[in-house]
Amino acid sequence: MTDFPRSLLEFQKRFPDEAACVGYLRQMRWPGGFVCPSCRGDRGWELKTKAWTHECAGCRKQTSVTAGTVMHGSKLPLTVWFWAAYLMATHSNGLSALQLQSQLGLGSYKTAWLLAAKLRRAMVAPGRTRLEGLVEIDETEVSCRSKGDPPAGGGGRSHQGKILVAGAVEVVARTKGGHAPGRIRLACIDDFSARSLHSFIGKSVAAGATIKTDGWSSYPDAPNVRHEPHIIGPMAAHIVLPWVHRVFSNLKTWALGVYHGLRRKHIQAYLDEFTFRFNRRRTRHAAFKTLLGIGLLLKPVTYKMLITPETTG
Ligand SMILES: [Zn+2]
Repeated sequence: MTDFPRSLLEFQKRFPDEAACVGYLRQMRWPGGFVCPSCRGDRGWELKTKAWTHECAGCRKQTSVTAGTVMHGSKLPLTVWFWAAYLMATHSNGLSALQLQSQLGLGSYKTAWLLAAKLRRAMVAPGRTRLEGLVEIDETEVSCRSKGDPPAGGGGRSHQGKILVAGAVEVVARTKGGHAPGRIRLACIDDFSARSLHSFIGKSVAAGATIKTDGWSSYPDAPNVRHEPHIIGPMAAHIVLPWVHRVFSNLKTWALGVYHGLRRKHIQAYLDEFTFRFNRRRTRHAAFKTLLGIGLLLKPVTYKMLITPETTG
């Protein structure tokens, strides 16, 4: 019951209507039968008059099967949420709000944008652990798209029209030999100063890990980590730090391909989306559940919180 559909056809068969989606949510939420979140009582019934809602026989509290998930309080059919989460979780590049609107036949762009923004917000797991072992760290500039931003170039070393991004990639030894990328972290930073980069390292890398960098003067003395600097010319950076360079290159291609350039205001949400997809590239089924907020108990968000991302914390 809880496994994951492998194809669009399977998905369509599995979740053809609201009842099927409710059944899936109920099974995920209460695998052993209804349990009241308020009094832990296990006796209750489904209300006939209120969709997807159980009432506790003990304390009479009514609990929606979507309570605590990203779908809570939404007017959209559950099938739309399920499709959107499936497409965003399984599509290797993800979808823009415009693509989602056309794929799901949604009436307005705002509805599609809100749906995508809510799903995107579920992409950072609360309490996720920091990167461990050997971690490549580097920084880059990504062009941004905004009418208010002056065009890039012009001022020599000016960062105008660019978004500064710091990246970290775990380097994992393969059992067959060689190395492969593990998990990644990406963050928008104010500048390339020691303060900004040390703060990124502190949030992204576990104490005791070893960081591998290009030897840029802002990296030494990063707290709680061992530093392995490699002083290199720009031509050789991709050889010394191959994984973080590949991630940056994929990020830039993705930003242009899916979003035609990222917008400054929502940059961290897009970086989180890229990170989410990269870190779950082999576990799409887990990605689907995470996106719907099943088991995560995200606080419901309002449209206002989403259009002003700095207030969401
Ligand atoms: Zn109760």
